Amino acid sequence: AKKLGRNCWQFYQSAMNDEAQERLRIEGALRSAVERNEFVLHYQPQVDLATGRIVGMEALLRWQHPELGMVPPQRFIGLAEETGLIVPIGAWVMRTACAQAKAWQDAGLPPLRVAVNLSARQFAQPDLVASIEAVLAETGLPPACLDLELTESLFVDDVAQAVELLHQLKALGVKMSIDDFGTGYSSFSYLRTFPIDVLKIDRSFIADIASDADEAAIVVSIIALARNLKLRVIAEGVEAQGQLDFLRAHGCDEMQGYYFSRPVPAGEFEQLLKSGR
Ligand code: C2E
Ligand code: CA
Ligand code: CA
Ligand code: CA
Repeated sequence: AKKLGRNCWQFYQSAMNDEAQERLRIEGALRSAVERNEFVLHYQPQVDLATGRIVGMEALLRWQHPELGMVPPQRFIGLAEETGLIVPIGAWVMRTACAQAKAWQDAGLPPLRVAVNLSARQFAQPDLVASIEAVLAETGLPPACLDLELTESLFVDDVAQAVELLHQLKALGVKMSIDDFGTGYSSFSYLRTFPIDVLKIDRSFIADIASDADEAAIVVSIIALARNLKLRVIAEGVEAQGQLDFLRAHGCDEMQGYYFSRPVPAGEFEQLLKSGR
């Protein structure tokens, strides 16, 4: 038993080492990823349910590493957040997404809103407002075309400070969305005080709306809540016609999901726009 125990320990230790090494490897690679131009943005359409037209897009980060291949955000966003690397990476995302939206406007394509995810670390940067203002000035994108996606977790630490910051952002003229709405726990109290424009219903609620009465009731309630508060409401993770029909019947404003399109590279997104969908 002793021997087995030791073997188990050794096994455990080497598994820890592997994990720690993998982390270090990714962290090192992440540090140089911006300069090496290894990041790309994919764009996922946000579609108006009444007209069927693309009215917005969410910019989603992709990391193409020469050896690791395409690394999905779940594998590096957390680490980027912990190490603070999300700050320069997030700045790159903001600049690139705004420049892309402006380039499509200049090319005569119908004007779009571009949604950019903001992490907690970025939200806590003292120069956040100034840096967004600078990107808008530099790219020439109309502020109303930029939509900042924030999660409820950003608001829990210091509510008063978050409200102040949101008002400063609002003063720039940008839009603000609550991402993954319904998965946080402070949902209702802040809705009255925060100057937000959009609720994005988390995709975990959308998955079963066509078959599960409870999920359906939650989604109907969120849509009603949004309407009463004069917010737009976007359903995330729409994968099937049944979900789409349900959302449309219940007055949801927009949808985003694989049913319409996966997040795609800029070139493909441009084709979607040009095909007038
Ligand atoms: P999120 O902000 O909730 O983004 C939506 C995620 O749902 C994306 O995953 C998207 O590809 C996926 N999705 C969209 N439609 C469907 C669908 O119909 N079915 C299913 N199953 N999934 C769908 P992705 O691109 O892997 O990103 C994961 C998360 O990584 C994002 O979740 C966001 O939290 C984070 N992330 C991505 N890009 C950025 C970024 O530029 N900055 C920051 N801070 N976080 C980012
Ligand atoms: Ca998002
Ligand atoms: Ca989301
Ligand atoms: Ca999510």
